[in-house]
Amino acid sequence: MHTGMATGPVPLPVVGTLPQYSRAAGLGTVKWVGSSNESCIAPAPSAVAAMTEAAAGTNRYPGIAGEKLVMAISDTLGLSAEQIAVGAGSLALLGQILSAYAPPGSSVIYAWRSYEAYPILIALAGANSVPVALDACHRHDLEAIGAAIGADTSVVLLCNPNNPTGTVLEMWEITEFLDNAPREVLVVLDEAYTEYSFSGNDSAELLDKYPNLLILRTFSKAYGLAGARAGYLLAHTDIAANIRAVAPPFGLSSLAQAGAVAAWADIDYLKASVAEVVAERDYLASELVARGLEFPSSGGNFVWIPAGFRSLELEAACVAHGVSVRAFQGAGVRVTISVREASEAVLAALDSLSTLPS
Ligand code: PMP
Repeated sequence: MHTGMATGPVPLPVVGTLPQYSRAAGLGTVKWVGSSNESCIAPAPSAVAAMTEAAAGTNRYPGIAGEKLVMAISDTLGLSAEQIAVGAGSLALLGQILSAYAPPGSSVIYAWRSYEAYPILIALAGANSVPVALDACHRHDLEAIGAAIGADTSVVLLCNPNNPTGTVLEMWEITEFLDNAPREVLVVLDEAYTEYSFSGNDSAELLDKYPNLLILRTFSKAYGLAGARAGYLLAHTDIAANIRAVAPPFGLSSLAQAGAVAAWADIDYLKASVAEVVAERDYLASELVARGLEFPSSGGNFVWIPAGFRSLELEAACVAHGVSVRAFQGAGVRVTISVREASEAVLAALDSLSTLPS
């Protein structure tokens, strides 16, 4: 937290109707697009070169289960290949996870507000959504999530850092949660933005102790490969096998695989990209603090402005200043970090409002 947070009711999603993925408004006038939390930085030149080279061989199918990428991840993390599954982005893997582990009639618990695809994918799997309100500091309320676990709970989704609020669960909090969670419940740690807040690989070290833990990661954010579509998961051998069993064959394209393998190896580029985005995030945050805005500290490549009922007004002002942002009506606005000019445009948009939106 940057300052003491105002408390207020957290809107819960409508359960029972199929929710829709929201889109940013007014893209026609926008100069800086990127309200989906993509990296504002192009992929590593080595990844682009690898994809270009792979393009010449696309008359052939890729390996049936992304073996090259699995081997690269296995080598670096010191996990067996059997503990890893890869797919066309973490969304595709999450769909597989739910189809393997969240049968119709079972319940899937997740914090809300969190990643807006969760209720959609849970509904598609035919399972029941159990959203648990974030606490007053926009963080996961792990105690309430634990208390919500019942006999019908199949999966718990924890998003760390949380999209869209940016809040971070520390490893000790996750460990404590896992200590208390029943072993029959699969705990999915969605780490789409982990590179922006954790430099090590701490969560993977928990896999030995907690056989019901699954770690989900992506090449879409810090690696800059959102358009290529590549993600991976780490889990106990049996769980990874069950998830591979429901994978569409050849789901990871040869282009995505080549790009991901090269980006994975290019650690210096990853570090430099992350450092650039984190520096810009810190700049924007410090300017927001200077304006007296109250908002949670972010561990992602975005910042959450809890603008409440003024979210659409703030979004419109940002669009008018040339930046697309994502407004969640009644809750807040998520600003994806981009270049300095885009940050300045967001600040100018805020300054154009008659009063602060939070
Ligand atoms: N998890 C979270 C928390 C996300 O924010 C996103 C992308 N917005 C994803 C998963 C999906 O990422 P991808 O399918 O591109 O890997």
